[in-house]
Parts: sequence; C-alpha cells; structure tokens
Amino acid sequence: MSVTIIRKKKKFSDQPNFSVKKMYRPSDVKETGLAFIGHEISDDGKVMNQFLHYDQLYTIRHGWNSKFFKGLLEGKIWGTRCPKCGDIWVPIRTHCWNLDCDLEITEWIEMPLTAKVHTWTIAGWSGRSSLKRLPIILVYAVIGDSKVAIANELHGIDPWDVEFQMPLKVVFKPKEERVGAVTDFHFEPAEGWTPSPMNPEKERIKKLVEPVYEWVKTMK
Ligand SMILES: [Zn+2]
Repeated sequence: MSVTIIRKKKKFSDQPNFSVKKMYRPSDVKETGLAFIGHEISDDGKVMNQFLHYDQLYTIRHGWNSKFFKGLLEGKIWGTRCPKCGDIWVPIRTHCWNLDCDLEITEWIEMPLTAKVHTWTIAGWSGRSSLKRLPIILVYAVIGDSKVAIANELHGIDPWDVEFQMPLKVVFKPKEERVGAVTDFHFEPAEGWTPSPMNPEKERIKKLVEPVYEWVKTMK
C-alpha cells in the first residue's frame, strides 16, 4: 500500500508593514560582527587563549507570538489558551500540546500579574555584566493558571527565604525603560507574604550565600 501526501503551500498571513519603529542602540554598540581582539600565551609556551568579541545585530521575528512582547511594553502579561481543552500557557504556545486537540490554534488571554514559585535557584556566579548584582535569585514561576512556568528574577527577598509555591507579583520596569523583552519585568513576593522562621535548610543556604555578598562588596 502506498500513501501519497500532498503538501499544499499555505500562506499564513500577509506581509506586514512596520510604521512604528524605535531604535535604542547604545552608542558604543558598533555591530562589528566577529572580531579576534587579542590572545595570550602561557609563559611555558604551551597554552594559548584567544579573545573573540561578538557584536552582531539579531532580528527576532516574533510572528504569531508578537502580542506577548507588545504586551510587555504595555505592562501586561498575555498568555494563550486552547479553545478546545482550556489549557493555558505563559510562555505562550501557538498550538495546543494535547494530542486530542489536533494542534488547535490557541487564543489570547490576559493573565493576572500574580504567580507562584514552581522552583528556583540562587546564582552565585554570572556573566561580567551582572556580577555586581549577585547573588541573583532565579525562579520558574507559574503565572495565573498557566500549565507551564516562566523564568525570571525574584527581587525583594533574602535568597534563603524563598519557598516552593510562595505567592509572587509581577513588577514591571517604568514604561520608558521597557523594550518588549522578558527582562521588562521581575517577580517580587506578593503583598502580605512573610517568610517562615529560620530553619536548618535556610541556615545552610545563608552560609553558602554570605561569601557572595562579601565578595561583591570588594568589587569596584
Ligand atoms: Zn487543547
């Protein structure tokens, strides 16, 4: 038996016209692409390190996901929902993941600016640009009734006080500082939430984190 699959080319949307365009490229970003900017060789002549600088413009085409990123500019979190089974996602999905829904196209739904901690980690090391902000609490949080968690920073709490399922609020940067990226917001503990008393596990984390605070103080 042979099966013939006919693939019909389907155009999903018309070519958009972009009349609202904002550029905020810092003056020191030159977009030079890949450039070898130096090297070093060990005193015994056996080992060589090279310094490769990367400065390249990316265009992130958000397509059907655009509403989520436009929403960030407006201080809103948009999720998507399957009209068949009702599952909700932030980060968004354009099609339902349930096999029974046969890749149903999702619909947009505005999410509440509240979340719960699914899991978290405390970063004691980072890229150069974030070193002075260490230690950084990174959470995977479930916004509203989402079926998936979204990663972002948790501010306004000591690292050892974070708890599973603790309630959070979404806090946006001031409007003029937003760029339409997930870094436009972070999480903070919800109003009225207070950490549980110290316990051996919290003491353990505190001991691990304290040297990071001390080290950051020595940074210029
Ligand atoms: Zn579904």
